Amino acid sequence: MSGAKGPVIIITGTPGTGKTTHAQLLAEESPVPLKHINVGDLVKEKNLYEEYDEEWQSYTVDEDKLLDELEPLVSAGGIILDWHTCEIYPERWADLVVVLRCDHTELWERLENRNYPLKKIQENNDAEIMEVVLEEARSSYPAEIVVELRSEGTEDLEANVARIVQWIKSWTQDHQQESSNT
Ligand code: ADP
Repeated sequence: MSGAKGPVIIITGTPGTGKTTHAQLLAEESPVPLKHINVGDLVKEKNLYEEYDEEWQSYTVDEDKLLDELEPLVSAGGIILDWHTCEIYPERWADLVVVLRCDHTELWERLENRNYPLKKIQENNDAEIMEVVLEEARSSYPAEIVVELRSEGTEDLEANVARIVQWIKSWTQDHQQESSNT
């Protein structure tokens, strides 16, 4: 959704693929101000969940409450939505959907370092191998706004952020032209 302040960028991917790391660097390097929303943290802070599942150590999100909370932020534009899923957002929200990918051995190590329970590491690792988040993004948004990027090392991180910065520059130019034509 083309808000007045800037684009709406969804950064998604299996937990551990580097969403927060990318979103933080992108917010620093973006040519227009971007507010980074870590959706998982927002869910916890604002109690936007139905319950906490001890076994899986995860929250069952109250999707209606979450969407109500996000709607005004998204309408204002200039935002990065950082979350491991993207299919619950309305399609019209997104200007760009970035799906981060990581080799599963590397991902396993990252999740182990987070002290996730084995079951949760396995589940996420399987999801990455099965391309669950990528499929979700492709089935929820037009192909031309979905970009799959590898996130296995710092060179990937830097190249990915530089690429998104270029995209923001051309998005901003197009939208300046659009608003001066109306
Ligand atoms: P997510 O937000 O997707 O769960 P994080 O951004 O928290 O993932 O990253 C998980 C871990 O992996 C962090 O320790 C981070 O430093 C590391 N990491 C993520 N992406 C990269 C990358 N491209 N290169 C090197 N380390 C990375």
